[in-house]
Amino acid sequence: QSEEENNRTELSELGEFALIDSISEKVKIQLDSTIKGIGDDAAVVDYKGMETVISTDMLIEGVHFDLSYVPLKHLGYKAVAVNLSDILAMNAIPQHITVSVALSNRFSKEAIDELYSGILNACSTYQVDLIGGDTTSSVSGLVISVTAVGAAKKENLVYRDGAKEGNLLVTTGDLGGAYMGLQMLEREKEIFKDSANVQPDFTGMEYILERQLKPEPRKDAILELETMGVKPTSMIDISDGLASEIFHLCKSSKLGIELYEEKIPIDQETFDIALENHLDPTVCALSGGEDYELLFSVDINEFEKFKAHPLFKVIGHFIDEGQGYNLIAKNGTRHELQAQGWNSFKK
Ligand code: ADP
Ligand code: MG
Repeated sequence: QSEEENNRTELSELGEFALIDSISEKVKIQLDSTIKGIGDDAAVVDYKGMETVISTDMLIEGVHFDLSYVPLKHLGYKAVAVNLSDILAMNAIPQHITVSVALSNRFSKEAIDELYSGILNACSTYQVDLIGGDTTSSVSGLVISVTAVGAAKKENLVYRDGAKEGNLLVTTGDLGGAYMGLQMLEREKEIFKDSANVQPDFTGMEYILERQLKPEPRKDAILELETMGVKPTSMIDISDGLASEIFHLCKSSKLGIELYEEKIPIDQETFDIALENHLDPTVCALSGGEDYELLFSVDINEFEKFKAHPLFKVIGHFIDEGQGYNLIAKNGTRHELQAQGWNSFKK
């Protein structure tokens, strides 16, 4: 913080064009599919006859992120990561992003450099090129909008509406951790407000904080599915919590579900910290959100490939729509699955 004060370049001194130049100087083109990146009226890409997949998200300071505990570098990384997750959920490979920012004079050039170091770190980790954007001013907070573009062969695309009765429901990774990480960050923020000289102690919370601050989209799982020769029948990424995403697959595919509580993958740290804070770990997984894992359906004949695979967990199966949405609890009792995802208007 103090370093930034000593070494602070005002955006008003720099001007919009110099700022864009300083961004584009750091961009290294990695892909043959990038024909023209930053610097003309529009970018040009070539997906060699493949289908183009496009997704956009906008993040608003105070609504989607809180800069009092989110470092700008992580914000940049996460803003890209969540968009790549949407492209991967179509079974497509992300190739390009554009990033648009609205900045107030509260931000220095050095702060923007931090934001873009996170953005470009995600670009190199996931092999995507930054090919454009827009830069404008804001009277108050930071706004960041990312558009991701990917490519896939037409026959490889996976939609939400393709699940069939009897298909298995599979998830990657583990769930609920990002939500527990957020709870801990919010808790420490409250403590810090009351007594500013108390230093937060996050020992033993490294995993859940990482899940919240630096989510990794599951490109590895998409590549592994291809290696396994499996094409999911439907797919979605888990941004709003497992329950909400299951409902999307069920509604789109016109099916019901049986979900087994004991199968839901929850990391030990997530589990322990949930209990310490009087939260049900299963509820954190079902309703928490921001895990950015992939949730998909596959034919039951693929069970052998998934049953002991380290990247995947079979957690249920699809049934007739008339039989509804069922959670089979650990004690064997049957409950109606609650739809509540994470609604950004409710809070
Ligand atoms: P225009 O006036 O045509 O919108 P700009 O001056 O906004 O042009 O943009 C010039 C070039 O810089 C374009 O290639 C645009 O995509 C790129 N660009 C502008 N802002 C950003 C940004 N924040 N990140 C990446 N590229 C950007
Ligand atoms: Mg512009």
